[in-house]
Amino acid sequence: MSTSPVIHPVALVGAGPGHPGLLTLRAVELLGRADLVLHDRLVPVRLLDHVPARAQRICVDSLHGTHPERWPEIYQIMIEAAQQGQRVVRLKGGDPFVFGRGGEEAEALRQAGIPYEIVPGVTAALGAGAFAGIPLTHRRHVSAVAFVTGHEKPDKTDSFLDWAGLARFPGTLVVYMGMARLPHIVEMLIANGKPAQTPAAAVHWATTGQQRTVTAPLSELPAAVQQAGLKAPSLVIIGSVVSLRAELAWFEARPLLGKRILVTRPRHQASEIIARLEELGADVSQLPAVEIREPADWTRVDRALGNLSAYQWLVFTSANGVDALIRRLRFLGRDLRALGSLRLAVIGPATADALRRYHLNPDLVPSVYDSESLAAALKERVTGQRVLLARADRGRDVLREQLAHVAEVEQVAVYSQVDAIEPNSEALESLRRGEIDYVTLTSSNIARSLVRALDEQSLQLIRSGAVQLVSISPVTSAAIREMGLSVAAEAQEYTTDGVVQALLTLIRSE
Ligand code: SAH
Repeated sequence: MSTSPVIHPVALVGAGPGHPGLLTLRAVELLGRADLVLHDRLVPVRLLDHVPARAQRICVDSLHGTHPERWPEIYQIMIEAAQQGQRVVRLKGGDPFVFGRGGEEAEALRQAGIPYEIVPGVTAALGAGAFAGIPLTHRRHVSAVAFVTGHEKPDKTDSFLDWAGLARFPGTLVVYMGMARLPHIVEMLIANGKPAQTPAAAVHWATTGQQRTVTAPLSELPAAVQQAGLKAPSLVIIGSVVSLRAELAWFEARPLLGKRILVTRPRHQASEIIARLEELGADVSQLPAVEIREPADWTRVDRALGNLSAYQWLVFTSANGVDALIRRLRFLGRDLRALGSLRLAVIGPATADALRRYHLNPDLVPSVYDSESLAAALKERVTGQRVLLARADRGRDVLREQLAHVAEVEQVAVYSQVDAIEPNSEALESLRRGEIDYVTLTSSNIARSLVRALDEQSLQLIRSGAVQLVSISPVTSAAIREMGLSVAAEAQEYTTDGVVQALLTLIRSE
């Protein structure tokens, strides 16, 4: 007897207007365990970061036929996948039930006897209102808002929309899909009594780095939009509340707005720089260039950890080294007291912070955060002593070499660092297509790993300056130059904050 598969409800999920932070928690949950994701073209690639690598992704625009012909095929794919027991997410821009045909998709599922779940999303009107600084309602202005579609078949003689009614509507009008017919829409509203001077705005790609807003009195909006070259997707907002934007606008003033930046740090260490860049307005993509693993062999580490009283100094050159050593110590059944008699040195503030998370204070942080400076600062203190250096299984040997002149140095690899770029990753494709403006490189290994993974087309974009490289330090810059590429900006302080500063300075100077 064959058992039929469990059928999971198909999820019709709103993806919000574009900003990756405007997904709902439920959407993230569902994406995280999806087997198949069918998404609209306008859904930003970043949102698909939540989808497991093993899941299948289909952009519905890649299906055969023109717009309306694709719908039966979308239904069929969803239904068949669900019947096979797959978890299906249909990811749709904004909210699925606001001009999104979610209603039709739910009907098709119901007719096929497939259960479904509908997850609302932030609809474009709400995204545009918030990110353009236009409150859709306001006690001093209006207490109603209408969402209207401006998309009607051009050959329609009888207008589907009641323009007279809309012109009289006592509130804000938000027009979706109105760009193609904007002159007609404006003409109809004014002809039906809407004052020509009503404040109006068009918001392009609201909530994303591509956001641009044009405001004008209603009668002049079509000309202003045309002059600014605003196209779809844009939303038109009409009403006195648009005048509030003059004081409330906030998003478009961000210094990195629209800059497409690739972050290449390991995933577990990237969140801080990503948050900083996004706060400054950047569109950030991730391509972890290296990964941290356990070392191939623990023998020497364990021997050193079993004999810690033989050392006077323990030196860390990365936060990963701190985490790895302490994890191993605990694995061996010991605790922080084992480090009690040691003095601790770190290369810079991030490594110092890693120690502090274990309630350990560094005894030494050099004033410049590189191996040479750490060696120079240590040399004065470690003469004739024994030093344990906990580090990665690859990297420069400067520190050991320098210290070996004055001290007895034992160097152990507490973690292994490996190249980690997946050849067909989405971010690598974006780079190849010219959709990245800047790449941040926060170590020489990361720089080498990235460049090794690039094809000729991407390298050419870097050589031509279309993609610019921002380096964390002179050492990283040297590694980049050794590979025949140039560095557009270099951090003055060798930290991720320094990288962000260098990027800001570079962009201001452009
Ligand atoms: N279901 C979607 C709307 C789909 S209709 C939602 O709830 O938002 C497509 C129209 O939505 C576009 O023509 C445009 O008018 C509007 N739109 C969608 N995303 C937008 C964005 N980020 N900025 C401005 N308009 C957007």
